[in-house]
Amino acid sequence: MSLIVQKFGGSSVANAERVFNVARIVTDTYKKGNRVVVVVSAQGDTTDDLIEKANEINPDASKREKDMLLAAGEQISIALLAMAIERLGCPVVSLLGWQAGFQTTSAYTSARIKSVRTDRIEKELDKNNIVVVAGFQGINRYEDVTTLGRGGSDTSAVAIAAAMHADLCQIFTDVQGVYTADPRKIPNAKLLKTISYDEMLELATLGAQVLNNRSVEMAKKYNIELEVLSSFTNTPGTIVKEAKKMEKLLISGVAKDTDIARVSVIGVPDEPGLAFKMFSRLAAKNINIDIILQSIGRDGTKDISFTVAKSSAKEAEEVMNEYVSNVGGKKVLVDEKVAKVSIVGAGMESHAGVATKMFEALYDAHINIRMISTSEIKVSVLIDEEFADAAVKAIHAKFFDED
Ligand code: ADP
Ligand code: ASP
Ligand code: MG
Repeated sequence: MSLIVQKFGGSSVANAERVFNVARIVTDTYKKGNRVVVVVSAQGDTTDDLIEKANEINPDASKREKDMLLAAGEQISIALLAMAIERLGCPVVSLLGWQAGFQTTSAYTSARIKSVRTDRIEKELDKNNIVVVAGFQGINRYEDVTTLGRGGSDTSAVAIAAAMHADLCQIFTDVQGVYTADPRKIPNAKLLKTISYDEMLELATLGAQVLNNRSVEMAKKYNIELEVLSSFTNTPGTIVKEAKKMEKLLISGVAKDTDIARVSVIGVPDEPGLAFKMFSRLAAKNINIDIILQSIGRDGTKDISFTVAKSSAKEAEEVMNEYVSNVGGKKVLVDEKVAKVSIVGAGMESHAGVATKMFEALYDAHINIRMISTSEIKVSVLIDEEFADAAVKAIHAKFFDED
């Protein structure tokens, strides 16, 4: 008897018909003699709607209360799915995050899973129940409800699979698997049969929404193979697994992230310790920095630019204005109309010219590059936001339409 964890995202349970569709997938798996734990997200746009509701009442509401509200979305879907499974004649029980044993850090709205105490789930499975668990939520040491950050249900599913040594962890979504680019934007994007944890982690971090990056990190850590597949079509999806077992593709995907802003500090004195003083101030405020660019010093000054998440832009600007008045510098500029476009591929480690090919695609499309950053398996460029989709299209065509 195998233990199978199946996760269904918001669009897979968006309405009654889809809830029944999911219930059928789950009960088919159960009827084949498997133990099944199901993790579900809130229906459709419920989480966005709840955020909007909160903003109507109090945009500065405490994060504790935001979590109390957001967790409600998943509570609705577990109950509805359990009711559908009951109707299909199978024994089932739904559990909230805390009932399923999700212990998290106390950081409301972006909590991390510390452990999953699976006794209750196991007890229910021993009673032959299908167990339906609310994704995206847990409980902290103050016994308050927490949520894991947007897209967090993927991580809930992988955490259960890891804690219970599941035989299979399936992430059902609204596309057939992981593609070489967002298939909704690039219609001829190719479905990948397999992708390594490292490449998937980069793609997820660089903006490919299909899997939450923390879920991939966790899958890699505990060596859980993931299958990403569609809940609408009965077709094989993409396997995310250890790289050793697969051929290295030159490029496995193109990703776009528009949740980014560039901060430039102009005319900083060109002397030792300035970067340290700048970035330590940002670190003290927990502001994560991504790409950094420093200009060559001229006339005793230089410019330093870096990117942050859009949500941190205002705070970063304030910290930098303070820096300029205390340490030196001319002015601080913030540009929120930028996007990061990246290519990811384990094969680029051993192939020269991959970055060049990407730059050529951008040149052909007359798109100006503002910043560049590279690692062993990725190249990212910062460009104007208005050209982001065109850039993804041009780069994808360059790498995938020519072979
Ligand atoms: P779920 O609600 O199932 O968690 P998400 O909306 O979080 O689903 O993620 C699925 C979406 O991710 C797809 O509808 C697709 O538009 C988007 N996406 C972005 N990049 C990719 C990619 N490289 N491969 C597949 N889907 C992608
Ligand atoms: N419902 C949550 C969100 O919309 C969690 C998830 O879907 O994974 O972010
Ligand atoms: Mg998701």
